[in-house]
Amino acid sequence: THFGSKTVLESEKEKLVGQVFSSVASKYDIMNDVMSLGIHRLWKDQFIRKLDAGSRPGGRPLDFIDVAGGSGDIAFGLLDHAKARFSDNKSTMTVVDINPDMLEEGKKRSLNNNYKDDQRIQFLVQNGETLDLIEDNSKDVYTVSFGIRNFTNIQAGLNTAYRVLKPGGIIGILEFSKVDNAAVDLIYQNWSKVLPVFGQAIANDYDSYQYLVESIQKFPAQEDFKSMIQKAGFYVPEPGYENLSFGIAAIHVGIKL
Ligand code: SAM
Repeated sequence: THFGSKTVLESEKEKLVGQVFSSVASKYDIMNDVMSLGIHRLWKDQFIRKLDAGSRPGGRPLDFIDVAGGSGDIAFGLLDHAKARFSDNKSTMTVVDINPDMLEEGKKRSLNNNYKDDQRIQFLVQNGETLDLIEDNSKDVYTVSFGIRNFTNIQAGLNTAYRVLKPGGIIGILEFSKVDNAAVDLIYQNWSKVLPVFGQAIANDYDSYQYLVESIQKFPAQEDFKSMIQKAGFYVPEPGYENLSFGIAAIHVGIKL
């Protein structure tokens, strides 16, 4: 029947759209997994633990923003932590990403976790370099995880983070960084050379993995990145960053005084 065929077509379309969206997000997940041998999951846990963000009992709710939030795992993780540690179920979360498909995936995932229909979370397509829809002095906690490396203008992104944070607000950045151990670096450099070949084999995609390696190599070293955070106006408590796995990744923290 006409009704029947329409239903089939619609469900077919839904399936196709779903595949496209999940192929974007799973691509990022797989790239992170391959590049870090799965360890990025532990780094993200450490990032969230270190920030230890959440409204303290009796305190006012916080406004979080997770930039380049992709499929939302940092955003959900931060809210989970706030709830578990401080019984905070009032703070709000804005997840932004430049890629609408990634945000759709985040929305989809929120339907399958504790945040189904949670009015506290909003998803916005935004360029992290400008965050046009985010007001000055409006956020308490700004996070960006494995995203700022992809910004065309990283300093602009940091300046914008400073703009949108309230005085007293905190910026936390998790990103690939520079290895601080000669033996580990030797292995890592060789790993980086073969990675695009693995990318070709696993995902039939040499170029994306080559881009991933180059974007990591181009990203500033810990001390230089710390200086950029300071240049944006942030106070950076010493030593300014924490290396993860010998500096394969690092957590940077700053405060808008
Ligand atoms: N934050 C997630 C995580 O830690 O797994 C996702 C990281 S994913 C490797 C990088 C994300 O950065 C992608 O979702 C991409 O769309 C986003 N991105 C790249 N450039 C951006 C920009 N200028 N503004 C906002 N998001 C950006």
